[in-house]
Amino acid sequence: MAYILNEKLKNLVPYSGSAGVYDVRLDANESFLNPGELFKEELQAALLEMPLNRYPDPSCRKLREAFGKAYRIAPERVVAGNGSDELLSLLLGAFLQDDQKLLTLEPDFSMYGVYAEIYGKQMVSMEKENMEIHVDSVLEKMEREQADVLIFSNPCNPVSSVLKRDDVVRLIRSTDKLVIVDEAYMDFDSEDSVVDLAGVCDNLIVLKTCSKAWGCAGIRLGFAVSSEEITGVLNALRSPYNVSSFTQAAGCVILNHAEYLQKAAEEMKASAAKLYAGLLPLEKCGKVKRIRRSKTNFVFIETERADELHSALRERSILIRKTAGNLRITAGTEEENRRVIEALFELFGEEREQK
Ligand code: PMP
Repeated sequence: MAYILNEKLKNLVPYSGSAGVYDVRLDANESFLNPGELFKEELQAALLEMPLNRYPDPSCRKLREAFGKAYRIAPERVVAGNGSDELLSLLLGAFLQDDQKLLTLEPDFSMYGVYAEIYGKQMVSMEKENMEIHVDSVLEKMEREQADVLIFSNPCNPVSSVLKRDDVVRLIRSTDKLVIVDEAYMDFDSEDSVVDLAGVCDNLIVLKTCSKAWGCAGIRLGFAVSSEEITGVLNALRSPYNVSSFTQAAGCVILNHAEYLQKAAEEMKASAAKLYAGLLPLEKCGKVKRIRRSKTNFVFIETERADELHSALRERSILIRKTAGNLRITAGTEEENRRVIEALFELFGEEREQK
């Protein structure tokens, strides 16, 4: 008898990531700086000392200590994961119970919905007003929908808008439901971070990653910070050796260089500011609807022509991200920014000539 996959699994689409070879890749919000070059010697020394025959430290003790030092957080309230993606999968899969309902605020990071669907969880989405979060509307929606868990990214991927710390705090303190704040992009400017409150507010989980401002997407390292009770549950739910010895060692090297984070974040924000300024004339002359200024390493372009522009850039070997019906471009090196700006102007210029 032939094996038949169930209908739900047949329709799943793999996360495309950024497969393929492109001259310019500005699609995944990676850093254009490689700290691996800067810290080569420390990384090599760590590799030489590593006992490959042994399992990694299941508690990631040194890594959590390094994270705790960098963020002034007690290591006991930290769980490390194979990217924050693994922690999201754990939170929206095993942690969220089948009779609980998840609320997402759209547009937001697409994987929240993907995980909820894969794990068959109940999910309700709310459209943001003008792509911004309004705390009272969210609280009202949570109440009306009887949602048990709220998740959102702050700053928001893909829009790049930021909910101010006071508002986040009011949101967390106005509900006894679980609030997961995904701060993947908060390291670019941490003034609105609430990571210090994870543990103080027992209904808060804050997610962090080394993939963005730290520039270490390749090592796959993320963190969840929460109360000791939730930390204990996450530790029980995760697989025992979820963070490899390589990642633990590289993570310790990078996290012990807090000065690197500041410098890298400034450089990436400066690049994003230049990208924004370079593209702005397209908004001014009405070619695109809106370009959003950002405190992160990407810009968001609202346009009705997202599909067409995305494909046309691909044909020019430039990969950007089509998301939420619009476009998101990661800030790159000067040369990468120049290529994407020129290509977009050319595409609009060609259109002007044809009309
Ligand atoms: N959260 C947000 C908002 C993201 O944009 C991303 C990556 N694009 C992640 C989480 C996952 O990050 P990672 O798994 O690389 O830590």
